This record gives sequence, structure tokens and C-alpha cells, in this order.
Amino acid sequence: MPLLPEDIATLNTCAFCPNTCRPSYPARADLQIEAQTPSALSLLTLAVLARRVQRDSDTLHALSRRDAADASRGHCTYGFDMPAVLTRALDQTEDVSHG
Ligand code: SF4
Repeated sequence: MPLLPEDIATLNTCAFCPNTCRPSYPARADLQIEAQTPSALSLLTLAVLARRVQRDSDTLHALSRRDAADASRGHCTYGFDMPAVLTRALDQTEDVSHG
């Protein structure tokens, strides 16, 4: 599914959000790793879309760690469905890497 017009704004809001969703989901250690928060994944996704970061295997691996993003569903302060937005954006980064 293509990136929706509002998805970039959503990614920007999430990237600079202090993870207010985090206290709302389980405190399991793997969900609390800073680099895997919805904010971190949003920031990295924006960097790939802007071609500031390569879409290589390391980047794809980092973006695949979705446990915290999945856990944020239903707990986002803004009502975002970040797993869906990140999936649409990741599909778009494939076009960026070939474009
Ligand atoms: S999912 Fe929502 S609450 Fe969580 S970091 Fe992103 S914008 Fe903030």
C-alpha cells in the first residue's frame, strides 16, 4: 500500500514524541529498548526516506524490530497505528532505494 499523504506528518510526530505510549504496554525488557521504540523506528524511517541513511541489511534489521511498535497499537497518545504507518513507509523506502 502506498504511503498516505498524512504518513510523513505522523512519522514526524512519532519521531519527536517522548514515547508517551511506553508506560501503557508491558515492561518486558525487549519492549523497552530505546532503539526499538516507535519514535526510534519513525526517525530511522524518515532518514531512509530522505536518503540520509542507506536501506541496507542493517537498516532493514533495525526496522524489523517491531515488538514495541506493535505494543503501542491502541496506546498511542495521538491514536496512531504506527505498525501500519511503518509498514507503508518501509514499502516506500524500497522505491527510494531503487529510484
Ligand atoms: S506511537 Fe504514539 S505515543 Fe508512541 S511514540 Fe509514537 S506518537 Fe508517541
